[in-house]
Amino acid sequence: MSSPVDSAIHLSHIELMNAGLSVRWSDESASFFHHIWLRDNCRCPACGEPSIGRRTLKLSRIPKEIIAVSATIDRDDTLAINWSDGHQSSYSGTWLKSHTYDELARKIRAFSPPIWTEVTRQNPPTLSFESVQQDLTTFREMLHCLRDFGICFLHDAPPKDGPLEELASRIGPIQESNFGRVQNMVVDRTQRGIANDVDALKPHTDEPYRASPPGIMLFHCIQTDVTGGGSSIFLDGFEIAETLRAEDPEGFTSLARHRQAFRRHFSDDVDLIAEFPVISLDEFDNICGVRINDRVAAPLSIPSEEMPVYYRGLRRLLELAEDSKRMIRRSLRPGDIALFDNHRVLHGRTTLTVHGRRWLQWAQVERGDFHSTLRITADRLQLYRDALPLLRGAYG
Ligand SMILES: [Zn+2]
Repeated sequence: MSSPVDSAIHLSHIELMNAGLSVRWSDESASFFHHIWLRDNCRCPACGEPSIGRRTLKLSRIPKEIIAVSATIDRDDTLAINWSDGHQSSYSGTWLKSHTYDELARKIRAFSPPIWTEVTRQNPPTLSFESVQQDLTTFREMLHCLRDFGICFLHDAPPKDGPLEELASRIGPIQESNFGRVQNMVVDRTQRGIANDVDALKPHTDEPYRASPPGIMLFHCIQTDVTGGGSSIFLDGFEIAETLRAEDPEGFTSLARHRQAFRRHFSDDVDLIAEFPVISLDEFDNICGVRINDRVAAPLSIPSEEMPVYYRGLRRLLELAEDSKRMIRRSLRPGDIALFDNHRVLHGRTTLTVHGRRWLQWAQVERGDFHSTLRITADRLQLYRDALPLLRGAYG
């Protein structure tokens, strides 16, 4: 099933206008479709195979002045059109209704997830690894939690090498990074690098210096011998961005409008630099992604008059990112897996005191692949793919 539309709503009345076709629906709502939009989206076999998203129709072959010569509502709720270029098209009412593009319809389709509350922090989405791996419905529930809250915890995964890779591969092809395909983070003072450090790590977005930062990240705790602290920290980047919007609308807008430069010069042969807004907004000003990480911030290059207000907004956002009241703290135990959306949820950890060994595995999956799996899983379960309007993520 792929239609988000109530199938009881059908085409009621149509009227050809100069610019396109005006449609009235059985629920009294109205829509407008431009000639060119309808012709360009012809559903006939000569124009392509809509079910697999393949088009053979080329826009350049459609006459610029194309118009519908006649339009009728046929049996089975079908709109039939004869075009000025001699082509004929037909569209089901359900398909048309689900693709209306008036302001309200687009607004409704712009996915905006719920931000975290105290309830989310007290009871974050938590499922059993076994059940996620055995039962497709639970697997889908995990994907939904990731989509809606940006986070999901799993317990009772076998504490060994393998399960993380297996799970990540079900969500999508594992995205290789500079650190490898599946990364092992073993706390060992003789090794260098931030991830192996035992100091606290402030909540942050991973790798904002990439044009496309990691999407869904998975951490698996395989081994731990930690006393005196060592919690993983998670925080809703959307919640703190919304807080900033309420407290300082100007500062918020400045962070959404201007680009922050991020840089990481890893070694002699890797020097990543990206410039993207700290807060990404969709066309309706819904927050759709964040890049919050001052450890890799590079010098700003924004209009001079914006500098004070930008810094004011950024300072407040970074303060909010350290607000312990907004954090989920978890001491990951062997067998625990945390999955989160890196374009939304910031992660960090408190200072560790390790007496033995701490071994965490980490892998990442690209967001587009995650969303694809969400759709396909709904199809396999014969459920409505309410995953169609998806969170877009941070720009890039
Ligand atoms: Zn056609």
